[in-house]
Amino acid sequence: TRDAKKQAERYDLHALRERMLAETGGEVDDSIPELASANPDVCGLAIVDDDGDVRDTPDADLEFSVQSAVKPFVYALALVDDRERVLDAVGTEPTGEAFDAVRLESDTGRPPNPMVNAGALLTANLVSGSTPDERFERILSGLSAFAGRDLRVDDAVSSSEQLLGDRNRALGYLMRSRGTLDHPVDDAISVYARACSIVVSAEVLAVMGATLAFGGRNPVTGAQVVPREIVPIVLSVMATCGMYDGSGRWMRRVGLPAKSGVAGGLFASVPWQLGLGVYSPPLDKKGNSVRGVFACERLSDDMGLHVFGAP
Ligand code: GLN
Repeated sequence: TRDAKKQAERYDLHALRERMLAETGGEVDDSIPELASANPDVCGLAIVDDDGDVRDTPDADLEFSVQSAVKPFVYALALVDDRERVLDAVGTEPTGEAFDAVRLESDTGRPPNPMVNAGALLTANLVSGSTPDERFERILSGLSAFAGRDLRVDDAVSSSEQLLGDRNRALGYLMRSRGTLDHPVDDAISVYARACSIVVSAEVLAVMGATLAFGGRNPVTGAQVVPREIVPIVLSVMATCGMYDGSGRWMRRVGLPAKSGVAGGLFASVPWQLGLGVYSPPLDKKGNSVRGVFACERLSDDMGLHVFGAP
């Protein structure tokens, strides 16, 4: 089998970062002021192996809001809390559309998958908890277990997400009109917006991605964060939907389950091998970090990480 661990130990991440910095395309997201003010020149990269060893570069500890990279972990936690209800309430089909597409399944009124906003808005409100605060606390503590450290919320980001989230509210009302979302829209948005505002780094994302890569076990803490049988559901939906309407090219070129976020974060899970985390704000037209995609393409090629690649 491919020994990605040994290759990761030998891989010159700093040289890769220099190549990434030369990729100057893309635009910083401007959906909220806190994202628009990001420094486009920062670029961090981290790799975590099965021993929990972390290899990283400058900027891998820079903090940013997780945004949509939260969605696989929210999905995992919701599946733990009520697997049958979640599988019934949210589809698992890629849409080929943008992350914020206003689209539900025509026959069922379900969101198409948990990686687009409609799906994540619903899964964030299907985790255990009788109030929005309890549901958010479940998400924050669950993500902290994936990360192996106590995570926090960026309140300014959360406030902007809630104040400027009209499109997400529209998705919420559409789902309520179809009987798909039970909770009041403002309650649902408050959970989802805070989840998107949890603060991570490239290194934190790499540990979280590694936890999914190793069957739900955090390789840094050794904790079994979610049951192993949940993970294939999450990774398969990441593989087909995680990079939005760039998911097809991503799977062809990189060949790894991954999830991006509009703050410029991106993580990938190399099943039973590694977790990868990248942070650089400029986004391509699909909403994925330009340098994050570049780095994962190089790592996949150089280290033979493609899930359908050579053994
Ligand atoms: N908070 C953002 C939203 O709801 C997340 C989008 C993203 O990262 N793709 O639109």
